[in-house]
Amino acid sequence: GDYIVEAEHLSAIFQEGTAMESFALKDLSMKIRRGSLTAVIGHTGSGKSTLVQHLNGLIKAKSGEIFVSFRENPPLVKSGKSFLFFKGKKTVIEKKGRLSLSEEGFDYRALRFKVGLVFQYPEYQLFEETVLADVMFGPLNQGKTREDAEALAKDALASLGIGEELYAKSPFELSGGQKRKVAIAGVLAMGPELLILDEPTAGLDPAGRDELFEEIAGLRKNYAMTILLVSHSMDDVARYADEVLVLHQGELKMEGTVEEVFSKKEELEGMGLGLPQIRALLFDLQKNGLDIQLGNTVEEAV
Ligand code: ADP
Repeated sequence: GDYIVEAEHLSAIFQEGTAMESFALKDLSMKIRRGSLTAVIGHTGSGKSTLVQHLNGLIKAKSGEIFVSFRENPPLVKSGKSFLFFKGKKTVIEKKGRLSLSEEGFDYRALRFKVGLVFQYPEYQLFEETVLADVMFGPLNQGKTREDAEALAKDALASLGIGEELYAKSPFELSGGQKRKVAIAGVLAMGPELLILDEPTAGLDPAGRDELFEEIAGLRKNYAMTILLVSHSMDDVARYADEVLVLHQGELKMEGTVEEVFSKKEELEGMGLGLPQIRALLFDLQKNGLDIQLGNTVEEAV
């Protein structure tokens, strides 16, 4: 298979050696298929956030290994320039294929550009005077010229449906949904190949949620991006993800397609993850051989 990230036997312990010692991840192995929209679900404290922070190097693996394999040119970098991946001697172009994060000289700074992590409520990190300047900040920080940074920022904003009329506005004048998109564009402008979104629709109204998910789905189509979605919402996962990882007390309990995972209703409920009723009903109907999809009209379904 073609995987962008593979973790093998990853364990993470907090407050090791104290009475408070706790395993956030236990011997966790998983893979993320390139081009997929993979969801990570699990109860609060199940290890989701610890896992995703390992994937962009914010937390370094102490036990176990993480492998990444990127394409040569990130799709958002139209200038075609690539940065050094290994400090000193090698570049992404020279060193292809599967790389271990524990490899000597691994460049964690470069990794953070390749694996874009959008935290919860990312709009709290907006700070520049204008929308455009805010989104240009990342590429400029990567060493891009102003001209390239501007092109990348405009491209990222457009891909999230933010129009030119907002470029000169202060981020603080925008609506909640717009702010969130600008914040995501700031990560996108750095040309990640894997975009990790931690509860991207938290706090948005249903219309804002649907709209943002449509834009996210578009990123995958237009930029062939791989997306990892951390979510509490089983409903959003059912609608938008194609693969699901289920964490429970730091362990990977289930993985598979949305259909495979969501058909194991009792197991999910045992981990406190109830399916939305409409979905549960739909899966029951599908299991009983009815060719029905969410969104079908009554006429289509009968
Ligand atoms: P989730 O994102 O699924 O809510 P987390 O990865 O945040 O789960 O947490 C997993 C476990 O690790 C929890 O038991 C949590 O209390 C613990 N944990 C997370 N971060 C820290 C930390 N910085 N110090 C101590 N314990 C932590």
